Amino acid sequence: QARFSLGALSNLAKGRQGGEDSAVTVAIRVRPLNSREQKMKAKTVVSVSGQETTVHPPHSQQKFSFSFDFSFWSCDAQDGCYASQETVYESLARPLLDKVFQGYNACLFAYGQTGSGKSYTMMGYNEDAGIIPRFCEEIFLKAAEVKEDNVTCHIEMSYFEVYNEKLHDLLTSDKEKNKTKKTALRIREHPELGPYVAGLSAYVAGSFADVQAWLELGNKQRATAATGMNDKSSRSHSVFAMVATQTKRETSDGESLTHTMRSHVNLVDLAGSERSSSAQTSGMRLKEGASINRSLMTLGKVISALSEATQSKKKPFIPYRDSLLTWLLKESLGGNSKTAMLATVSPAAVNLEETLSTLRYAKQARSIINVAKVNED
Ligand code: ADP
Ligand code: MG
Repeated sequence: QARFSLGALSNLAKGRQGGEDSAVTVAIRVRPLNSREQKMKAKTVVSVSGQETTVHPPHSQQKFSFSFDFSFWSCDAQDGCYASQETVYESLARPLLDKVFQGYNACLFAYGQTGSGKSYTMMGYNEDAGIIPRFCEEIFLKAAEVKEDNVTCHIEMSYFEVYNEKLHDLLTSDKEKNKTKKTALRIREHPELGPYVAGLSAYVAGSFADVQAWLELGNKQRATAATGMNDKSSRSHSVFAMVATQTKRETSDGESLTHTMRSHVNLVDLAGSERSSSAQTSGMRLKEGASINRSLMTLGKVISALSEATQSKKKPFIPYRDSLLTWLLKESLGGNSKTAMLATVSPAAVNLEETLSTLRYAKQARSIINVAKVNED
């Protein structure tokens, strides 16, 4: 007769290693035709309906439909699927924020062809703010809420980018770096918390206004560094990272107890996906070095290895360490994190191949299962 302790049973219910199993949430967002495309009377080959995104190649009866957690349209034309910045935030990012306050790690990354709306969705504009500023604004509102339950929430933030397999701190200027003789940023691995960037500046943010100031600086540094460098902005990955530490103090029988939960948040605006797919179709011309985005290519390999892993029982090898980005996002992909992916596409016929490739990629990502645990002590 098999016997289980109650603890073992509840761990079984929670999934592997006592964590909570959850699939990566995937949303598609179709941007509107831009003014140039409108002027050229570009043909729209994408449609959305409910959770489905469908691609209709011109001059063909064939169509390709994919089902996602969300399929968002960006103007009023398509009934019921129009999603504002607020709707996208509420559907995809707000649930992650709630998980952060329960003590889980969270990650949201934007994937898609250059010009398809990654930065618009992640950062947006002042009057039309994207996910990152909305997330930061709400984290402080939530922090004020939990304060009423005697929980103090401490928030630290960093902002960096990965370009040509090098890490760049976006919150210190080069001048300052020279002054302090800062050595190059490197990835280190903490035995329990996983990979992190050593030497990266991290600032305590006491309010949303603090974060806004740092974001402005980081975005400016990103833009400045991009000028003069061939197409840098579309080939770099930016990572906005926060660590939220919640501490609850209680007194019981005259003894004071503290309970701490720590959550890592990564909000990632990836490099344009077009190079990775063209590099793959042209047989990986590895000698071209800089023109191939190693981090993006490895991300593709990691996602397909993980999605195969959910279909087979064997523990596969996942090449996290083959690139900086995948190494850093190790916990976010198949590990200890609640993760969402936003895939952005263009509706225009000229981008049909890239759009299909993005949708296939997103479909694979949707089968990744993460095992998230509350990080507490
Ligand atoms: P990416 O970061 O993927 O290269 P951007 O976010 O810079 O692309 O978007 C390219 C252009 O399209 C920008 O001018 C942006 O404002 C516009 N755009 C993208 N997505 C949308 C959207 N959903 N609604 C309105 N404009 C958008
Ligand atoms: Mg961009």
